[in-house]
Amino acid sequence: MYIGIDIGGTAIKAGLVNENGEILYKKEIRTRAEREYKDIERDIIELIKDLIKRSNEYGKNVKSIGLGIPGIGDVTGDFVVYCTNLGWRNVPLGKNLKSQFNLPIYIENDATVAGLAENVKGATKGSNSSIFITLGTGVGGGIIIDGKVYSGAHGTGSEIGHMIVGENFYDCNCGNNGCLETFASATAIIKYTTKIIKHGNNDTLILEKTGGDLNKITAKLVFDCAKEGDKVANESIDRMVKYLSIGIANLLNTLDPEIVAIGGGVSKAGDFLLEKVRKQVGSYLLYKDIKYADIVLATLGNDAGLVGAAMLGKYK
Ligand SMILES: [Zn+2]
Repeated sequence: MYIGIDIGGTAIKAGLVNENGEILYKKEIRTRAEREYKDIERDIIELIKDLIKRSNEYGKNVKSIGLGIPGIGDVTGDFVVYCTNLGWRNVPLGKNLKSQFNLPIYIENDATVAGLAENVKGATKGSNSSIFITLGTGVGGGIIIDGKVYSGAHGTGSEIGHMIVGENFYDCNCGNNGCLETFASATAIIKYTTKIIKHGNNDTLILEKTGGDLNKITAKLVFDCAKEGDKVANESIDRMVKYLSIGIANLLNTLDPEIVAIGGGVSKAGDFLLEKVRKQVGSYLLYKDIKYADIVLATLGNDAGLVGAAMLGKYK
């Protein structure tokens, strides 16, 4: 059995996971991200100690400890290089866990571990190569090649959200302009919709449903209005779909995976989004008449991070 820990800005979820990616025991604490790194590390160590104790009740040894973080680790696994939400920079999380527990420690980006979880028991299960794209406040990615997570030679790969796909009217949080995240995230949909309404497109359901308060626009609302045939909402969604499709086509031209899964809050738009993306991706591909990756919706919800983190012990 494996320990998986999903470190987020609001909660830290930890659990015992079996070979098949099933959660046997789960515990959750609040991150309280405003605290010093050392205090959060102490909580993580306590969680692991508790899980190891619990594992004895199942009569099985823990084989490894995997952690999913909203940032990136270094290639040695000793340091977390960046974790912006938590204010971490070059913190020795892996190193300290290795010295505390006599077990292999794996640290990976949260979207990468969610992609691994999808590959173990979700939408891309059974495939040898897959790409997971999460569309939320930002855009993240996880790449599986030959059944293993791929994060590059320096640990900085699979940053799909920061693939530059065009020029945009606002800069990305990373400082660059034109990142996929600024076209295809929930934030991007809200920003662009607000922009076109401010430019005088007032004949829209969006204004009706927000009572004219542009601060109340959400990606879900824009999708709901688009589904009802609203012109402004559809203009915004069509732009999002165009750039998402370009991004996916770039990935297919480069990696040619078997399957692509789209997850995250924005993917709750479901088939309405999926059908549009499926229709467009092919037009941007180099080899249009050769079979290419199926594009599907991710199927795992909140526990994907925990399960994927645990499965690093088996698939990394
Ligand atoms: Zn960026």
